[in-house]
Amino acid sequence: MVTGSGQGIGFQLACGLAEAGAEIILNDIAEDRLENAAQKLTDMGATVYKLPFDVTDANLVAEKIDTFEAEVGPIDILVNNAGMQYRAPLEDFPEDKFDFLMKLNVNSVFYVSKAVGKHMIARKAGKIVNICSVQTALARPSIAPYTGSKGAVANLTKGMATDWARHGLQINGLAPGYFKTELTSALVADADFTAWLSNRTPAGRWGDVSELVGACVFLSSKASSFVNGHVLYVDGGITVSV
Ligand code: NAP
Repeated sequence: MVTGSGQGIGFQLACGLAEAGAEIILNDIAEDRLENAAQKLTDMGATVYKLPFDVTDANLVAEKIDTFEAEVGPIDILVNNAGMQYRAPLEDFPEDKFDFLMKLNVNSVFYVSKAVGKHMIARKAGKIVNICSVQTALARPSIAPYTGSKGAVANLTKGMATDWARHGLQINGLAPGYFKTELTSALVADADFTAWLSNRTPAGRWGDVSELVGACVFLSSKASSFVNGHVLYVDGGITVSV
């Protein structure tokens, strides 16, 4: 199951996991978007389930997961991908936007992981991949709350691994650098930012979302059976270079 997979990185990861042989549960808040995404995956030959719900509603999350597990089958792999960005100077950053951003980027990881994790613990097996960011390690002007949220996701990942590795689960983070998606479309269109990014990134360019898939498949497979609490950066080297 990939949260927020109606579009963007989540959808591409769902496609990559399907190509690697997984059955896919698509989740998104927008039901119509799930229709399109599910159709594309079905056309690829994948087995797809649609599970629309708001990942920030803890009660709804628990109900949806329990019902799916009881009526359809086990969720073996969870990718906590749903997330948002909001830019404003920190001194003007609206409190309600801060709260909403934290709820979507951090609380939802806890809500969905708790709901899925208890079934995984009972089976003594499961993979959880939490989508972090280059902002887990580095700050940028006007996105301090996002930076805080993605730092929290990485530390939550360590805590989840510490509590649940003993039950046979592997919980890791996947930290994308700058990738071309809906979330970054304004930055991609900004010639100054793109020039800055190309200069700043050792690989010299934006990432293509297809380049995230291998890391996600690795963290979702037996190949990572002794990898726990790790954050894997896929960022063209931006976090190792000044
Ligand atoms: P995106 O294109 O906005 O996709 C996120 C999806 O999640 C959207 O379909 C969104 O729906 C959905 N969503 C929002 N709120 C939700 C909720 N409450 N419940 C369920 N689904 C919800 O974003 P993206 O660029 O693919 O980013 C995906 C993840 O990667 C995020 O965690 C982001 O922080 C992280 N990331 C992205 C980049 C990048 O370069 N793009 C880099 C580093 C990390 P709506 O559009 O209707 O809100």
